[in-house]
Amino acid sequence: MSDNTADFSVFLKEQREFYYSGATYPAEFRLAMLDMLLGSIKTREADILAALDQDLGKPAFEAFTNEIGILYLEIRHAMKNLRRWMRPERTRLEFFHLPGSGYIHKDPYGSVLIMAPWNYPFQLLASPLIGAIAGGNTAILKPSELAPATSKVFRDLVESTFDPSFLRVVEGGPEVSIALIDLDFDKIFFTGSVQVGKLVMASAARHLTPITLELGGKSPAIVDETANLEQAARKIAWGKFNNSGQTCVAPDYVLVHESVSAQFKALLAEAIRKFYGNDPSASPHYGRIINLRHHDRLTALLAGEKIHSGGGSDREARYIEPTIVEDSSWDSPLMQDEIFGPILPVLTYADLDEVEERIRSLPKPLALYVFTRNSQTERRLSHRLSYGGGGVNSTILQVASSFLPFGGVGHSGTGHYHGKASFEAFTHRKSILKQPAWYNSGLALPGSQPSLAFIRKIMH
Ligand code: NAD
Repeated sequence: MSDNTADFSVFLKEQREFYYSGATYPAEFRLAMLDMLLGSIKTREADILAALDQDLGKPAFEAFTNEIGILYLEIRHAMKNLRRWMRPERTRLEFFHLPGSGYIHKDPYGSVLIMAPWNYPFQLLASPLIGAIAGGNTAILKPSELAPATSKVFRDLVESTFDPSFLRVVEGGPEVSIALIDLDFDKIFFTGSVQVGKLVMASAARHLTPITLELGGKSPAIVDETANLEQAARKIAWGKFNNSGQTCVAPDYVLVHESVSAQFKALLAEAIRKFYGNDPSASPHYGRIINLRHHDRLTALLAGEKIHSGGGSDREARYIEPTIVEDSSWDSPLMQDEIFGPILPVLTYADLDEVEERIRSLPKPLALYVFTRNSQTERRLSHRLSYGGGGVNSTILQVASSFLPFGGVGHSGTGHYHGKASFEAFTHRKSILKQPAWYNSGLALPGSQPSLAFIRKIMH
């Protein structure tokens, strides 16, 4: 269902009035709304799983852990910590501010917009929503039109649980998104592609609206000659082929040291076989591609590439076999943009200078994974290369923690969320200096200022 004929400015006005009523301010309200969100997800678990199956053929284990279970942990974490997060932070002061006190008030932004993509279509709407509610905001939520079944379940959930002056779902395609980002929301939280992220940022700039951009990009996994190759292969295969490679933090490609490349590729193929059997199309653990456009885009990327294993596809079923590609060139179409599907190019390197130089020449990735047993290599790659966040001897799990802020840098995004970072993404740190009503030092007032020489001495 598309809302493209609706007047979204009326929705925003209505939410703004609700926000100005002060209703969203008290911790009690926020906690009650988080509890209602938790309860409404719980009662709809079966509907959510069915919708994710319909949109993406998501296996039930994957769908529950990635899209539902993770939300339960996040909501409980927010409920447990909310009062502490909301508490004003007292600060120290300069001597010339005394007598007085300084504190930081965690101010809700007000009325916010949350826009989501189709790959984790439920979780990527609900997870920022936890932060928006915890932060004391109202929200308009725009699901992806490319996951219509999940969009519908999410809308039903919100409409039957919350007042639209507090939370409202608006459905539709890019035209609806364009109309929404044109409005002067108090904050926009966008998850999606780099290309649309730029449009959102440009639109937000017109109103100077604060933004969080959770984008994507080509995230490398680097496997050196000291790595535990068997574990590296299993963890990379799992991180890559979860959700059929349609994961923003999935390893996009592998850079493996040339001395262990053949062994690593064989182990990778073996891991795939162990996970999904000889025919992954019959596996209950393997999902499907979101739509035919993406299916065709992905299969076209294989043209002219050397396939190490996999490569099969079934257009009607939107199925692409987990595929390893070897000896790709940096100029090949496969290596230009985020692959966002179950195709894993494995490239080799001879020394780490080459790896550093190459990664620095590309847009900053959302994630980077280092597989090594050498602590110098670990530090060199994970500290000195710029990327959103990542793992050492681990893939994709960094996103599944309420204690690790998640976000990109540069091309892969701006801002963070998850856990306390979600509360911070939806609140402004408002600094307040309070002085006694009766007091005025007069120190800076023209006519009673001390000499500049004296001031120079004490401010140096
Ligand atoms: P997308 O940018 O095409 O769509 C995201 C949202 O933007 C949708 O709601 C869509 O309706 C809207 N949109 C589409 N075209 C628009 C336009 N011209 N103007 C305004 N809004 C528009 O992204 P997608 O294809 O749904 O998702 C895939 C991308 O999202 C990948 O790049 C992936 O890496 C990224 N992603 C990032 C994260 C993260 O947390 N960093 C998570 C998931 C996906």
